[in-house]
Amino acid sequence: MDSQTRQEEQTQNTGTQDTGMQTRSLRSGNTGFSTLAVHAGENRVKSNFSITDPIFCTATFTFANTDAILEYLKDRESREEYGRYGNPSEKIVERKLAELEGGETAILYGTGMAAVAGYLLAKVRAGDEIVLIDECYHRTREFCREYLGRLGVVTKTVPAGDYEKMEQAITPRTRLLISESPTNPHLSVIDYERVAALGKKYGIETLIDSTIATPYNVRPLEYGIDCVLHSCTKYLGGHNDLLAGVLVGSATALEACRKLRGVMGLGPSPHNVYLLQRGLKTLALRMERHNHNGQALAEFLEKHPRVEKVYYPGLPSHRDHLIAKRTMRGFGGLVTFLVKDADWRQTAAVVDAVRIPRIGPSFGGVESLIEQPMLMSYHDFAPEQRRAVGIPDNMIRVSCGIENTEDLIADFAQALEKI
Ligand SMILES: *Cc1c(COP(=O)(O)O)cnc(C)c1O
Repeated sequence: MDSQTRQEEQTQNTGTQDTGMQTRSLRSGNTGFSTLAVHAGENRVKSNFSITDPIFCTATFTFANTDAILEYLKDRESREEYGRYGNPSEKIVERKLAELEGGETAILYGTGMAAVAGYLLAKVRAGDEIVLIDECYHRTREFCREYLGRLGVVTKTVPAGDYEKMEQAITPRTRLLISESPTNPHLSVIDYERVAALGKKYGIETLIDSTIATPYNVRPLEYGIDCVLHSCTKYLGGHNDLLAGVLVGSATALEACRKLRGVMGLGPSPHNVYLLQRGLKTLALRMERHNHNGQALAEFLEKHPRVEKVYYPGLPSHRDHLIAKRTMRGFGGLVTFLVKDADWRQTAAVVDAVRIPRIGPSFGGVESLIEQPMLMSYHDFAPEQRRAVGIPDNMIRVSCGIENTEDLIADFAQALEKI
């Protein structure tokens, strides 16, 4: 290899990172959320003066010579080495997500559940205990009970919103306090300050799965929670077209998670990272509409004679309304309701009668989605198990997209008239 080629390779090695030109942190001052969503984490000058970041479809990253390897070994943050440990696009989106959540560092994963599993496996060992709220995502509960159970980790489940029970469940072996807020499908809201205070009192790390809230509506780290988790598949990606997950917290708290992610290969694909970066730019705009649609649909349904009950934290009738009002900017696009005097078939008739929402699991995308929890996430539960977890046959969950509010309301009005 002639010296000019080497020279070019060396230039390119540094060129994929900060191009040596200005990288502005937008964290300082009172930069608004939407400005951060668009610009945070990104270099001002990018490859070939492109306004967008490229997708790096590469398994490996090469070194111009042995000195370049030695330099990298001294400063591992300076560049990438192998795709399982990281990719330049990941670093950008991780910085953006860290800024949006107000955390020191972020780690991306291939899915939300990869983030859950990656976090837990990095944190616990045989004999440890985890305290988990009973309304956590059902696969998170399953992972703790089934898979961590096999490894000798004990999971204690406590009712969402019962902080006395949570404190009673803590023993000297408890390593983690895990909550979710708002929860799915009851949309219970956690008192972040109380959970953080319990964690501090007993020296236990606290984690909140904040997928349904998003950093636009609440930033749990500001209330003293140690780590935040998201399924980016939902609002952060926002277009029902990718799967990803993220952990945000202090570099110290997440160091072991970063290592394990590299060992297990839990990271996302470069293409999904690109879609996530693109989706995040409109997060504030989308959340404003999701919040507006959620609130409007919840208020409409609560007044409707064919509706027995509505679960929405933005309604004064919701059990956790006061906590939600104190801590959240908006209450999101998820609305859960019970159809009055309806069996599962009549409830299904409402689901089938709406014309705008598509029928399917998941939430948080621009397209509205609708589902009957007994047939979707809870289809393998026996009727008495479903009753125990508060999933009656006449329950419907709606994820309001960003369609026009009046169109969604008119659609539900016509669907409820059909039964
Ligand atoms: C969807 C979801 C997950 C899992 O995320 P995936 O990206 O589907 O793996 C975890 N927690 C919550 C609250 C979710 O809604």
